[in-house]
Amino acid sequence: MNRVVIVICDSLRTDLITQRDAPFLTELGQRSARFANHAGVFPSTTRTSAASIATGCLPARHGLLGNTMALDEGDGLVCLSVGRPDFRDRLHRATGRTLHAPTLAERLDRAGETAIAFSNVSPGAAYFLDPDGFGWVYNAAGSYGPGRRPLPAEDGLAIAKGEAGDAVATERFCEEVLQRRAPAVALLWLSEPDYTGHHTPLGSPAHRRAIASADANVRRVAETVAALDPDGERTLFIVGSDHGMETVDETIDLDALLVDAGLKQAATSSDVVVAPNGTAALLYFADPAGPLVREVARFLDTQGWVGRAFVGSGLAEIGLPTRSAAQIALTLKPNDRTNPHGVPGHSHIVRDSLEPKDCTGFGQHGGLGNNEQRPFLFASGGGFVPGIYRRRSSLVDIAPTVLRHLGLDTAAMDGRPLPRHPSPLPIPPPRPGEG
Ligand SMILES: [Zn+2]
Repeated sequence: MNRVVIVICDSLRTDLITQRDAPFLTELGQRSARFANHAGVFPSTTRTSAASIATGCLPARHGLLGNTMALDEGDGLVCLSVGRPDFRDRLHRATGRTLHAPTLAERLDRAGETAIAFSNVSPGAAYFLDPDGFGWVYNAAGSYGPGRRPLPAEDGLAIAKGEAGDAVATERFCEEVLQRRAPAVALLWLSEPDYTGHHTPLGSPAHRRAIASADANVRRVAETVAALDPDGERTLFIVGSDHGMETVDETIDLDALLVDAGLKQAATSSDVVVAPNGTAALLYFADPAGPLVREVARFLDTQGWVGRAFVGSGLAEIGLPTRSAAQIALTLKPNDRTNPHGVPGHSHIVRDSLEPKDCTGFGQHGGLGNNEQRPFLFASGGGFVPGIYRRRSSLVDIAPTVLRHLGLDTAAMDGRPLPRHPSPLPIPPPRPGEG
């Protein structure tokens, strides 16, 4: 039977995969199909990316719009963290559903196959891989079997984010999931180098150790896959990241700016609600068709820290829904300046009152900056010919690629199955006087 094994190294930028810090990934990339124009989604946050990897759809179609989202639970819009363990249930109560598109786990279940995910990132990012409980999802905040049946604590994944927890998850993933349970799709989502990147400078010794730990865990999984399927025909092995990171420049208190400009009644009012997403933000409106949307958009046009703003029907350009309460999306202005460790790329961020710590000089993501929009993607086995693939690819192409390998239907997805041969280089036209 064909199988798929996926490993996500959260936040690992393509350009930080070096021989020095990630020797195994460097080598794996050389013997894999390496997608050199691979893009994340917007916002480039873990929870949105998880939903896009799971559904093969952009946020406009799956409906999970960021690491934070504003929900109206009866008393007006309030910004909530999607990462908290209870967000899935609150979203379901407030809107009657979770994701608006079926996940890989659901599509596999219909075909009588099984998906198992081990995720060492936030509970929200774990649960939105399979929010309606068709397969198995393991996370430190609670693990679930089919039907969202909570697993007893001794069967759960009681680990912490970071190198040590990732190593425990990897070992158990290899022994229990890959060797013993052998599901059609097995996914391991490592917390590193994201976890360390959020509280240390990119390229610092601690961040480089975190990259090395992710590298070692991918090696462990790759060796297990190779032992189970030495010729690699049946097993498609996908390794990638969900997004990259920029270094945090300045923190913008957008709530306070809107209140000072007379565009928001108070920091906690529901007329316009800022959902901060690191280097991006979404603005939700109590009256999405009202004049406040244009007034806020005009104000944002005057702000030098805004990279780009997408308003109303313009949200479609970046894969966001146009008819929800979220009527403005911002990406903050990036710049190419290098940090003290020689890593290029800075961006402003929007202050998050749910996590009001100072992260100046540390890694962050969420927006459309070049470095945060540069996840990596390697595919090997399953008929993929090694080489550099320059055709544009995206996180949403992973799910249809998985389904094609399993012989299942890929209808109703934004992504397309990835090519298995690198496109031939275009033949240059003969120069005058030649041939
Ligand atoms: Zn992430």
